Amino acid sequence: MNYRAIIPFSGGIDSTAALFLTLNQYPNDNFLIFKVNLINGSSASRSIKEEIAVNAILDELRKMGLNNFSYRRLSYDYGQLGPPPIWDSEAVNFAAATCLRAHPEIYEFIEGAIAFDYLQDGFQDRLKQIEKILYLVSERNRDDLKIIFPLKHMSKYEVMKVIPNEILELTWSCRYPEGTDNWNLQRCHKCPACKVIDQVLNEHKNEFPKL
Ligand SMILES: [Zn+2]
Repeated sequence: MNYRAIIPFSGGIDSTAALFLTLNQYPNDNFLIFKVNLINGSSASRSIKEEIAVNAILDELRKMGLNNFSYRRLSYDYGQLGPPPIWDSEAVNFAAATCLRAHPEIYEFIEGAIAFDYLQDGFQDRLKQIEKILYLVSERNRDDLKIIFPLKHMSKYEVMKVIPNEILELTWSCRYPEGTDNWNLQRCHKCPACKVIDQVLNEHKNEFPKL
C-alpha cells in the first residue's frame, strides 16, 4: 500500500479532527494512521481510555465509508524509568520517523496542533524540537516531507464542530482519568485538556450533550 501521509492519532479531540478532515479532503489517497501507547507511572489509565477511543473512532469512520487508511499501533511501557524522561510528542515523532523510513513514498506528516496551542509558553520550542527529531531520524528534509497543520487557525470550539457528534463523543482527551475501575474512568475536569473542553461546554451549552 502506498500512502500520502502519516497521521499520528491519540484518540483525542484535536487529532480526531485532523484525521477526519484529512481523510475527507483526499478520498482518493491512502493514509497511515498510527498510535503510540506511552505507558508510564502517571498515564496508565489514560492509555486504556485512549486505546478504547482510537478503536471506536476508527470503527465509526469505517461505518461512515471512510476506509482510505491503514492503522498500526506501538506500545511502550517505560514506567520502570521513573518520571517520563522525554515529552510524549518526542517519542511519537521518533516512532513516526522510523515508519517513514519504511515508507519512502509518504510526503506529508499531519500534525493536530490548534490555534490555542501556539499561545502556550514554550510551545514553539517544543514544536521545533519534535520537527528536528522527525527530520533527523527519518533522514528526510522539508522538500520531501511536509508537516501539515490542518487545525492551525481553529479554536477548540471550531475543532469540536468539524467532528460529527457521533465521533466526537467517542474521543478521549483527559490526561489523568479518575476512578479505580478501568471500565468506569471519568474525566478529571482539572487537567489542561479538560479545562479547555469544559470552557467550550460552558460557553456553548447543549451543543455537545454527551461530552
Ligand atoms: Zn482531565
